[in-house]
Amino acid sequence: MDIQSLLRENIKALTPYSTARDDYEGTAEVYLDANENPFPSEYNRYPDPHQRKVKEKISALKNIPVENIFLGNGSDEAIDLIIRAFCEPAADSILIPEPTYGMYAVCASINNVPVKRVLLNSWFDLDVDAINKTLDASVKIIFLCSPNNPSGNLLNKEKINSLINTFNGIVVIDEAYIDFAADEGFLPVLSNYPNLIVLQTFSKAWGLAGLRLGLAYASNVIIATLNKLKYPYNINSLTQNTVLEKLSSAGVKNSQVNLIIRERKKLIERLATVSEVIRTYPSDANFVLVKFKDAGYVYNNLLKRSIIVRDRSAVALCEGCLRITVGTPEENTKLIETLRML
Ligand SMILES: *Cc1c(COP(=O)(O)O)cnc(C)c1O
Repeated sequence: MDIQSLLRENIKALTPYSTARDDYEGTAEVYLDANENPFPSEYNRYPDPHQRKVKEKISALKNIPVENIFLGNGSDEAIDLIIRAFCEPAADSILIPEPTYGMYAVCASINNVPVKRVLLNSWFDLDVDAINKTLDASVKIIFLCSPNNPSGNLLNKEKINSLINTFNGIVVIDEAYIDFAADEGFLPVLSNYPNLIVLQTFSKAWGLAGLRLGLAYASNVIIATLNKLKYPYNINSLTQNTVLEKLSSAGVKNSQVNLIIRERKKLIERLATVSEVIRTYPSDANFVLVKFKDAGYVYNNLLKRSIIVRDRSAVALCEGCLRITVGTPEENTKLIETLRML
């Protein structure tokens, strides 16, 4: 598959901005190249535009070569750049199964790229026939979210594989919640598919949403293109330094993830005993989608008692549903006690 031929012509032709530090990798004695303030402080220097140290650490942790890793200002930056690389505004389109994460459609719309929407089936899994019927020559990217937000489930792997194998375009799999699933996701097979992009993030399992760091993993051509499109210094020094530190303590992340998974199971069991609850959907993520008899009533009463959940009741296939993040054991107990009093 020729990825180059899928890129927009202006992107193929683009000469990227070259930063002052592009020609020089080591540590010099005197830096007079970037018009920085010379008086030392924590932040007087520009950050590494290639984020070499962070990428080397992620590379070792994930067993993915540095050339196949892109770092963005949140996954949202990667989503936007992927659309801008492959979709000619007002001509090409993206396809998304719904309900799913809102940013794919928002980024497409900002770029004036039409969105083709196909409903997931009633188990919130892919309807491959419906997708194939909707695909046409304008579709350049299919966005899949697995585990899916807001439904919480992993999408069927065989169905994803069949799409990657048959679709003559880019398949993005957003694995923001993969740490909470009993599945290794698609990174282990990344090198088999030149048209596959896997998105991950430090915002959820790693507990670093405030830092804004997202990742895209893909073949060399795709990563080189995203690097060409990004702002030169897109990941600031604070974020790079903090993530380097946190990557050395993956044990903390893993034990928090395990606790959240145990709490998820308990939460689902306890929700089954709440009279307002019709059903809780199975979850491979750090949240659950819950169908209530009267979602508006529950939402407003939780709000009054200072508990904020996400109202998804207006979203396709999510009528009557609220999305509830798994909190600390104390928070989950407070939620259940409050729900029982309604
Ligand atoms: C939370 C979330 C993200 C994370 O986005 P960041 O910009 O990295 O914080 C990505 N995808 C999905 C589906 C999410 O729910």
